[in-house]
Amino acid sequence: MVPSESPPRFRDDLSTIYDFMDEILIRCPRCEALARVVVHPRRGVLSPFQARRLVCAECGHTRDKDSGIYAMPSADAAHMYDPYFSLPLWLQASTRHGLLWAYNLSHLALIRRFVAAELREDAWTEEGIRMTLVSRLPAWITTAGNRDEVLRMIARLESTVGGA
Ligand SMILES: [Zn+2]
Repeated sequence: MVPSESPPRFRDDLSTIYDFMDEILIRCPRCEALARVVVHPRRGVLSPFQARRLVCAECGHTRDKDSGIYAMPSADAAHMYDPYFSLPLWLQASTRHGLLWAYNLSHLALIRRFVAAELREDAWTEEGIRMTLVSRLPAWITTAGNRDEVLRMIARLESTVGGA
């Protein structure tokens, strides 16, 4: 007898969206290839307010934003944009339920782990729990009935990044 495997379990690590803003995958405004918005290499401490740089490895396009002031997109927007340059996110897919999007692969992987888990544990029950990233995912993403469809979409989005 092989011992039965325990069901996939997810414990909320209290990540928030701000933990995934150091590197944002976008569509290059010049060549349409995968580009990145990263923390500006020469300025200050890590924070959402730090200056940013857009870098495209494909065409060499760069763009700086001295102020790290950002605008968070609306949760029910038809398309998602990065909060610094307002360029379209690379990792986004429309579905009949709504928009699935992520800033980067770590963000997408967190959503995947949450969706795949059959047991979801809240790490704590203080009021702050509602601010964590997974606690704020739209209901259609976390509904068990949509699990297979959502996981397929996540795999498809991951495959568009390749070895980058
Ligand atoms: Zn480019």
